[in-house]
Amino acid sequence: MIFTVAIDGPAAAGKGTISREVAARFGFAHLDTGLLYRAVGVLGGDPAQAARTLRPEDLTRADLRSLEAGQAASRVAAIPEVRAALVDFQRRFARRPGGAVLDGRDIGTVICPEAEAKLYVTASPQVRAHRRWCEVGGDEANVLAEVQERDARDMGRANAPLRPAQDAVILDTSAMTIDEAVARAVAVIAARRGEHPYA
Ligand code: C5P
Repeated sequence: MIFTVAIDGPAAAGKGTISREVAARFGFAHLDTGLLYRAVGVLGGDPAQAARTLRPEDLTRADLRSLEAGQAASRVAAIPEVRAALVDFQRRFARRPGGAVLDGRDIGTVICPEAEAKLYVTASPQVRAHRRWCEVGGDEANVLAEVQERDARDMGRANAPLRPAQDAVILDTSAMTIDEAVARAVAVIAARRGEHPYA
């Protein structure tokens, strides 16, 4: 069985948690594609070369979750050669037997336009910055500035900009708890599979 769930959206909208929960609920494999760009960003050197030679262990580095790694990721993610080097791996993952959930920025638009279910998970910049600040601490105004800078870069780049696919279901989680957001995502995917959400 091949079934791809594409979950796109801006930073700290809830994609990661929703993707993990959806993968567990349906027994699908999960790929956080942001980790690929974060790893390329922190590896340094020539980003295109780093993307071409990325190894599985690069994705488990402890420093990938930092704000700096997020900024480095969004800078290298604007380089067409970096994106091109990462396409095949993501496409193979998306179409692996048994089902797959991929979360990122361009999964429903570029990596897997044929995905059986597409969600665009978003929330206001203030809500997203507050959530991220609860995880990383520091100065909340700085976290908001970081979120807005990354949004602008990810939405404004020429190559694979962040935007909802035409056939994506938009999930605005600004006023939702994470449980509500997960339940909505599960319901959308179950409907695409012709199942009852709580079967
Ligand atoms: O999702 P995460 O915050 O880990 O992504 C880090 C950065 O990687 C994003 O800001 C974006 O620039 C880039 N990215 C991307 N395409 C993806 C996933 C992430 O351009 N599919």
